[in-house]
Amino acid sequence: MPLGAEKGQLLIISGPSGSGKGTVTKKLIPCDNFALSVSMTTRAPRPGEIDGVDYIFCDKDEFVSIRDNDGFLEHATFSGNYYGTPISYVDQKISQGQTVVLEIEVVGALQVKDKYPDAILVFLMPPTFEDLRKRLMERGTECEDEIERRTRRAREEMTELSKYDYLVVNDDIEQAMRDIHMVVKAEKMKPHRNQCKIDSFYGNNPDVDI
Ligand code: 5GP
Repeated sequence: MPLGAEKGQLLIISGPSGSGKGTVTKKLIPCDNFALSVSMTTRAPRPGEIDGVDYIFCDKDEFVSIRDNDGFLEHATFSGNYYGTPISYVDQKISQGQTVVLEIEVVGALQVKDKYPDAILVFLMPPTFEDLRKRLMERGTECEDEIERRTRRAREEMTELSKYDYLVVNDDIEQAMRDIHMVVKAEKMKPHRNQCKIDSFYGNNPDVDI
């Protein structure tokens, strides 16, 4: 299902825990025309996380009920917790012509790509696996077991990389941001997203044989 010429677009940012997705997303959102989709999760809030800002925190029953009523654009399990993208916000922002950013893991990202082949899938990766482990340890938000689980999951997610449209290496955050802006700009220039410009080129000239 294409998103349509003058509508907004979906920008999905995935990558292993510690790839810097959160930082990239936070830097993107204040930019013109970007809107962040806030996910629902059954994971417990980390210190400092705010309900409705970082996530909409809920229990399993609530999550399952929304899921079973088709309230999610996509959903997945990660490290024993449920995560999902509420569909209503995304629909609203897309129809307003915004670029909606989804910071989600690989299973959910591929569900979205199935439904919306136009969605832009960006995979963010630290330069080396060692960097990834180091970043996970240094951020200190997870215990040893959880770091182990997330490192294992990172290896699995890397195997899906070829299904993404773009790979951005996050060695330097400013460069990664420039790369992502470049991707979004290039995507906006695709002919099928610019039907109105093509129409206005022809104007009302009845002699033009399209
Ligand atoms: P964390 O627990 O570190 O906040 O998130 C764990 C993983 O779940 C991350 O890879 C994050 O991008 C992903 N995630 C967050 N929200 C969603 C969502 O709505 N759907 C899916 N599929 N993954 C999500």
